[in-house]
Amino acid sequence: MWKAEADEPPVLDVLRSGVWSRAKVVTEFEETWAKTIGAKRCVTTVNGTNAMICALTNLDVGGGDEVIMPPYTFIATPQAILQTGAMPVFVDTDRETFQMDVSKIEEKITPRTRAILPVHIAGIPCDIEGIMKIARKHNLVVVEDACQAWLSEFNHKKVGTFGDAGCFSFQNSKNIPMGEGGAIVSDDEELIDRCYSYHNFGIAQGSMVAKHGSGLSMFGTKLRLTEYQAAIGLAQLKRLEAQTDLRSENAAYLKAGLETIPGIIPYKVHQKVTRVSFHLFPFRYQKEAFKGLSRAAFLSALAAEGVPCSNGYVTLNNQPFLANAFQSKNFRKMYSPQQLDFKAYLERNHCPQNDILCNEEAVWFTQNILLGSRADMDYIVSAVAKIQKNAETIKKAFGK
Ligand SMILES: *Cc1c(COP(=O)(O)O)cnc(C)c1O
Repeated sequence: MWKAEADEPPVLDVLRSGVWSRAKVVTEFEETWAKTIGAKRCVTTVNGTNAMICALTNLDVGGGDEVIMPPYTFIATPQAILQTGAMPVFVDTDRETFQMDVSKIEEKITPRTRAILPVHIAGIPCDIEGIMKIARKHNLVVVEDACQAWLSEFNHKKVGTFGDAGCFSFQNSKNIPMGEGGAIVSDDEELIDRCYSYHNFGIAQGSMVAKHGSGLSMFGTKLRLTEYQAAIGLAQLKRLEAQTDLRSENAAYLKAGLETIPGIIPYKVHQKVTRVSFHLFPFRYQKEAFKGLSRAAFLSALAAEGVPCSNGYVTLNNQPFLANAFQSKNFRKMYSPQQLDFKAYLERNHCPQNDILCNEEAVWFTQNILLGSRADMDYIVSAVAKIQKNAETIKKAFGK
């Protein structure tokens, strides 16, 4: 947690300097983040959502394109795709891992498919090697949504470094909070120069000067991080390694405890995963093992025991924001009426496994819970066991 004595002096230095707009502290954070993740370069942005919009746009994803993504994620992921003018295409979830089911990607590829946007949801790496293989075979670009996966590794390599670009978030609820903030990492230096130019009004930067000429030569917007955010980020970064280890240890311990309770099925990780950031601790609740007690009643009972918990994400592949985007002026100019047939779109993007996960099974604890003690983890397990033992009584009290 924030330590006033150690953490505040560098932030106060920035505040007192009066240099608050992007300058040397932001650059220092970018260099440090690139090194931390093991990427050649990094450019920061106002948030993770805009990191993804910037990366996709500068990889030439836009109107008329389809971008493949998992439905089990935060609303930011499909919104980022829609903002570029592209259409999200949803691939069903593997309920055991909570990740995109890689075996179902290829059947979703069409002549319009331009990119894959895999998400390492909960901070648990998806099968990114499997996804990269498919992407290379079909000549698709890959932008990783690593917005929950700071330091997570697949086969000893940090996620965010497998695709053409990797995107991170530093929003307040995240494992490295700085209020708001985002970053793009890549080994493709030209891409980072392009993203940098784009994030700074299209003023050509680095290798883009030779390509486009200096000055106001490129299309862009403004997505710059501030100096005080970067100073906060550098302070938070000092704790990230140790806190990531603590979350991992507590997650393993909690998982082992919860697995002994019938009807509680924690996340599975791919065998090649070597590190997990645990932004979330997800598990599946099967009410049959709890005398038919509904998930909603289970969550209320758990909260009443003092354990903060959530039913997680809604099914993103059938929400009104998609129809709203399809009705927008830009979409109506970029796509044919057939392509915008929403009923047909919903049918093509039906994800039955994800529906079960979102509507019936998923339960999460958030990352802060995993910074507790062993005794806290024991308490959670005993609270779940207590609910199971009293399931019949609780069901009567809730009337479901
Ligand atoms: C938080 C998050 C984002 C977006 O990050 P912001 O910084 O809030 O814009 C994107 N994807 C996932 C999976 C996230 O959890």
